Amino acid sequence: EDLDKGMAKTKESVFMKLTRVVAGRSKVDDDVLDDLEEVLISSDVGVNTTLKIIERIQARVAKDKFLTTNELNTILREEIQALLIDDKVDKPRNLDVPDGVKPYVIMVVGVNGVGKTTTIGKLAYQFKKAGKHVVLGAADTFRAAAIDQLVVWSQRVGVPVVKQQMGSDPASVAFDTLASAKTQDADVVIIDTAGRLHNKVNLMNELSKIKKVMQKVVPDAPHEVLLVLDGSTGQNAFEQAKEFTKATEVTALAITKLDGTAKGGVVIGVSDQFQIPVKYIGIGEGMDDLQLFDGKIFVESLFK
Ligand code: GDP
Repeated sequence: EDLDKGMAKTKESVFMKLTRVVAGRSKVDDDVLDDLEEVLISSDVGVNTTLKIIERIQARVAKDKFLTTNELNTILREEIQALLIDDKVDKPRNLDVPDGVKPYVIMVVGVNGVGKTTTIGKLAYQFKKAGKHVVLGAADTFRAAAIDQLVVWSQRVGVPVVKQQMGSDPASVAFDTLASAKTQDADVVIIDTAGRLHNKVNLMNELSKIKKVMQKVVPDAPHEVLLVLDGSTGQNAFEQAKEFTKATEVTALAITKLDGTAKGGVVIGVSDQFQIPVKYIGIGEGMDDLQLFDGKIFVESLFK
């Protein structure tokens, strides 16, 4: 229900467009497929993934000779769901952390403005609500505002944050955070990082240095590298995914601002194109407006 409400815009729009494609047509022919292709592309699904979906539907039309538009709906739903790789990875699929991993370290990456800090705050809140001891690390030392915002969220949620002055070494902040988390016997550590894409070599070096230094305290850290993307930015999100996956290993995606977009296809396209599961979606600015992503529920909500 929350998802339905949160994604009202995305849902309405994609559903309405699909309905328009189907309306007044008795069977799926090339015209319908052309229109469908247009809807998917204009919903930010991305060209590659759209073509993949169209090809699969074409194959089924060829096989079954005749396809009603009702059947098209069902098939489309199945094909989109099959593209969402969320169930195919062996990662904890809930807000619980795996047994015996303590602290569970999440490194959060993404460019400024996508909702990185907000997502960290929401995650901290939900982990805390689940009874976990959470520590935040302000390793985006490039902007004073980034540190301040993380402090605001830490106060709002009621969890400690480890920080240094603006301009200090991000890896040193990450080290301090993990050391402090160990002392506090923390369950979860969430590390914010700077996302300056205009200097790609620096980005790569900075992230790998943060990782290396963290591993001095927790040898298998980070357990999760979460890339935050703004679901309302279409092609930019694809570009950012491309750059960040070049700079570091990304194990999961958080797609934000799905409440504010009539598109939302980024969720389908990015996950398919980069073969990274969407783990969380942001559907508002409040602490509760973060959901564990469930491909089945997502697709159902698009077509309901
Ligand atoms: P950062 O620069 O990446 O850390 O971005 P922030 O976390 O500061 O977020 C930038 C803006 O996006 C803020 O105004 C947030 O309230 C807003 N925001 C973040 N996530 C969501 C979301 O899921 N939905 C909506 N509507 N706004 C969001």
